[in-house]
Amino acid sequence: MITKSASRAGFAAGTVKRLFPGLADRRLHYLDSAATAQMPDCVFEALRGFEIEARANVHEGLHRRARAATEAYNGARAQAARFLNAYSDQEVVFTYGATSAINLLAHSFGTLMVAGDEILLSVLEHHSNLTPWQTLAAQRGIVLRFLPMTPEGRLDLEALESRITDRCRLVALTHCSNVTGAVTDVAPVVAAARSVGAKVMLDGAQHVAHSPVDVRALGVDFYAFSGHKAFGPTGVGILWGRAALLATMPPFMTGGQMVETVTLGSARFRPPPRRFEAGTPPIAAAIGLGAALDWMQGLDWNAIREHEARLTRSLLGGLASIKGVRILGPLDLRLRTGVVSFCMEHVSPEEVCIQLDRKGVALRGGYHCAQPLFEVFRARGAARASVALYNVDVDVDALLEGVQELANSRAG
Ligand code: PMP
Repeated sequence: MITKSASRAGFAAGTVKRLFPGLADRRLHYLDSAATAQMPDCVFEALRGFEIEARANVHEGLHRRARAATEAYNGARAQAARFLNAYSDQEVVFTYGATSAINLLAHSFGTLMVAGDEILLSVLEHHSNLTPWQTLAAQRGIVLRFLPMTPEGRLDLEALESRITDRCRLVALTHCSNVTGAVTDVAPVVAAARSVGAKVMLDGAQHVAHSPVDVRALGVDFYAFSGHKAFGPTGVGILWGRAALLATMPPFMTGGQMVETVTLGSARFRPPPRRFEAGTPPIAAAIGLGAALDWMQGLDWNAIREHEARLTRSLLGGLASIKGVRILGPLDLRLRTGVVSFCMEHVSPEEVCIQLDRKGVALRGGYHCAQPLFEVFRARGAARASVALYNVDVDVDALLEGVQELANSRAG
């Protein structure tokens, strides 16, 4: 394991890769971690440990196994709170993914808004951080405003002042674009929001695989992400929210596990986070996610950042040197992660992916659930390669070779 103490010897992605059973096939060049990252051994162990030794339902159990399950589930909440540097475990709500976390926020925090209130989004958002707000806007007469992007695909923060008004109640932005890889400069966003009394939510789906998060340092109010992009299982995610805000919010879904008392006519709900966790939660997945987040916290992130930046530099440089390739996103490595989208002249994004798959290179192609952004770029989708900590030079080389061959075949 690449622990902090081992960092002095440098970061060895090849060694890390061996911790991932899903990457055992050396012919696979997995460059699709922005869609779903692979899971390290310790997550499989946590899942297996729960399923064999503690599989039972949580919370109201009176037998040993149920207590073990509850303890493990609460333990995962504590692990997530540490990963986020949250003020308290009780600020961590388990959801089913980033999409369900943002829907929870829209349906719950959204009910505290009135007609004419405004929400500031951006043209860079994943549909998951757009359509829930569109629905809310249509239902409650709320006005959506949008930050534009710069020509290179970053949030245009110069427009903050003109787009944020006294009616703004929430600024909901991506922490890192799933198309351009651009990382949001959060401080000016928070300052602008505070100046009008608005809250800030970050969609962290694309940021969480690239370092633990510090919600206190970020100064935001809500943070949403999916477990499967943070080396954890699918079917689980997190909405972190400041305790004082969560306490003001009504439940989104209701049912078992989240009530204090119920009569035929009404129900009294538990305080957060359980108020927002109706029904049996994704217990095993939450425990697996806790293990993944704990594992991440033990890593040397300075070394990993350097490693990912080095691979991203090769990827960007190599793609830029191939005739007919257009990169969508900033080239400055200080402004981005290793999510690299590109278009090829005369080859559709889907075809790029199909051709590269023949060489064992796993990419994603299309609109990446961010259609409005592609309208601004005037592009009909893109192919996307995404770098994670376990990728190695051969993965990037295989991609570049494949794209070069494809470009040659179309040129001739
Ligand atoms: N936001 C961003 C920026 C994403 O990249 C994704 C996943 N592609 C999501 C939200 C939604 O995540 P999920 O599908 O896991 O809910």
